Amino acid sequence: MANKDTTDPVRMEKIVSLCKRRGFIFQSAELYGGLNGCWDYGPLGAELKRNLKDYWWRKTVQERDDVLGMDGSILTHQDVLKASGHVGGFSDPMVDCKTCKGRFRADNLENLECGQKPSCKPGDHKNCELTEPRAFDLMLSTKLGALASDNDPKAVAYLRPETAQSIFVQYKNVLDSNRIKLPFGIAQIGKSFRNEINPRNYTFRSREFEQMEIEFFCRPEDGMRLTEEWLQTRLDFYGEIGVPREKLHILDVPDGERAHYSKKTYDIEYEFPFGIQELEGVAYRTDYDIGKHQGASGKNLEYFDEETKERFIPHVVEPSAGCDRTVLAVICEAFDEEEITNEKGKSETRTVMRFVPRMAPIKVGIFPLLKKNEEQVRICKEIQKSLQPWMTVFYDDGGAVGRRYRRQDEVGTPFCVTVDFDTLGENGDDTKGTVTIRHRDSMEQERLPVEALLPWLLERIR
Ligand code: ATP
Repeated sequence: MANKDTTDPVRMEKIVSLCKRRGFIFQSAELYGGLNGCWDYGPLGAELKRNLKDYWWRKTVQERDDVLGMDGSILTHQDVLKASGHVGGFSDPMVDCKTCKGRFRADNLENLECGQKPSCKPGDHKNCELTEPRAFDLMLSTKLGALASDNDPKAVAYLRPETAQSIFVQYKNVLDSNRIKLPFGIAQIGKSFRNEINPRNYTFRSREFEQMEIEFFCRPEDGMRLTEEWLQTRLDFYGEIGVPREKLHILDVPDGERAHYSKKTYDIEYEFPFGIQELEGVAYRTDYDIGKHQGASGKNLEYFDEETKERFIPHVVEPSAGCDRTVLAVICEAFDEEEITNEKGKSETRTVMRFVPRMAPIKVGIFPLLKKNEEQVRICKEIQKSLQPWMTVFYDDGGAVGRRYRRQDEVGTPFCVTVDFDTLGENGDDTKGTVTIRHRDSMEQERLPVEALLPWLLERIR
């Protein structure tokens, strides 16, 4: 098994460079020197992220009878985050170095670099002079309302540090407006914000990021069992998006390291090229959250069980995943380089993103064999139009077909369709109206009638 310190910086560098070169991920405000901890997804990254979020929603909400979706506001009432304990309590320990003026997360020094000598950890170089740790507030706030004076404390609102709290404070409304019974969940995908001390490892630790969270409400006696069930459901999910079980590690967070209200917490970790790091937490949070909001709001948030006539605060199991971290894991897992012999008999390195088809940003490339052949181009455009309502398609007529395949390999397009002279019937009736489909991973080719293309592809990309 890989250990926490096994890293592969060369591989990571290649991945970062491909992501920029092919338009997956850019540094935010790069033109102006970059906004630290913020990232923009380019055309292919945006498609990949959408595929992930759509699949998560489909598996979590659409295909289940016991989970409903919601979409809460990012700007959050200060009382919500006071009740949850975030205001004044959501911080990381920070140390300053008096020599290099660097600021470091004190509980993560072993993964950070000294400001003067990057090969050392902060504190390890002879000139380092670290202060005692102090709490650094991770919350980002703003002021609401045109009339808000600069020092009106009531005008302060927060950019939410997690999506969970809007689910907790709307749980009763969701319950009352839908005919549902325990156990049931509320799922949400959305942006969260944390003023991280040291954003790092590419998009892994950002200041603005997206979460995919489920709060699953249940009777107290079901909490532990459902935590185990959700852990398994979430592990299966990663397999379905191309992150295999053997690259995932489950950390059973020990007593003393869990939040004080949590009876069980599992961290699902992935072997990133920069080390084994958390992708998702699955936590049994007991009745803490709803209990806190009931206490602070003074409103009754109890659940009434029609059958047993009991009233109680529901318990909560929370699978909380990071969307950006998962995209990064999918990218890291897909990246591959292999030595192949090209058409001219020479050996070359093929870079290929081996995305599972449901995650691939482009599902199919469409090429005319000869760009100058009007009939081939016309058929390609017709195929393109017929597939576009169903999937992302990329038309390419530039350069040799082999080069076009390589360009699609590099962005992970699982299938490429070529319209050639056989399609036009120039080599007999047998192949007239058929196209070549080339598979990204095996590079093998087969022929299919044009009419069969859509169902053939749909079966493979869902
Ligand atoms: P970490 O220990 O890495 O800071 P955490 O335990 O504080 O993470 P949670 O509060 O449990 O994280 O958030 C749930 C999920 O949200 C995490 O598993 C992660 O995928 C994602 N997440 C949290 N913070 C960040 C961040 N700064 N950048 C990107 N994703 C994040």
